[in-house]
Amino acid sequence: MTKKVLVIEDEVNIAELLRLYLEKDGFQVRIAGDGATGVAEVKVFKPDLVLLDIMLPTMDGWEVCRAIRKTSNVPIIMLTAKQETFDKVAGLEMGADDYITKPFEVKELLARIHAVLRRYGQTAGSEEKKLVFDKLVINLDSYELLVDGKRVDTPPKEMELLYHLASSPNRVYTRNQLLDEVWGFDYFGDSRTVDVHIKRLREKLENVSPQWSLKTVWGVGYKFETTNPENV
Ligand code: CA
Repeated sequence: MTKKVLVIEDEVNIAELLRLYLEKDGFQVRIAGDGATGVAEVKVFKPDLVLLDIMLPTMDGWEVCRAIRKTSNVPIIMLTAKQETFDKVAGLEMGADDYITKPFEVKELLARIHAVLRRYGQTAGSEEKKLVFDKLVINLDSYELLVDGKRVDTPPKEMELLYHLASSPNRVYTRNQLLDEVWGFDYFGDSRTVDVHIKRLREKLENVSPQWSLKTVWGVGYKFETTNPENV
């Protein structure tokens, strides 16, 4: 199936160049020249991936990223100019999946796109993505977290992190492993990001059931501990 890429970029030359390369690589491409159009196109065009420029008129790339994340988990690669300082942690927090610096090598750009799509395919494809524990349902298909029967609003990355940990109960993950496996790239963001997300998850999951908990393994990382992993 042809994958669709939405390019949100106001510079026509760059946008058209991207279209050329992406179409040559077999993607279906749509271009949005500003943020508001981009956000709207996410709903209409339903892209498999978004290339999002940071420097945009009226609504900048960060705002656009935030707006997209309110309604969609589509993978987002940010485009940043070399002279711009790119705050990696902020990028992660806002839900970007990767970033690339302009001017970019076409090969590198395509490699990044394919890597993100592959990663996304691994977490979004095939089987039902639902884990059930005592008083806890983690549904990664609908991105719904049910705690003691109640729906708890949880941002996508927190859902993915919890799902990842709970998929292998009692397995200890280091922060770097979690950055690699949940966020998907090791050079983008740092271990504080993991701590922040764990902290927020804890606030939602504290003292719900004696059968499981989100544990810190001092000096190592984190695990989803459960007393009866055979129920998974
Ligand atoms: Ca621009």
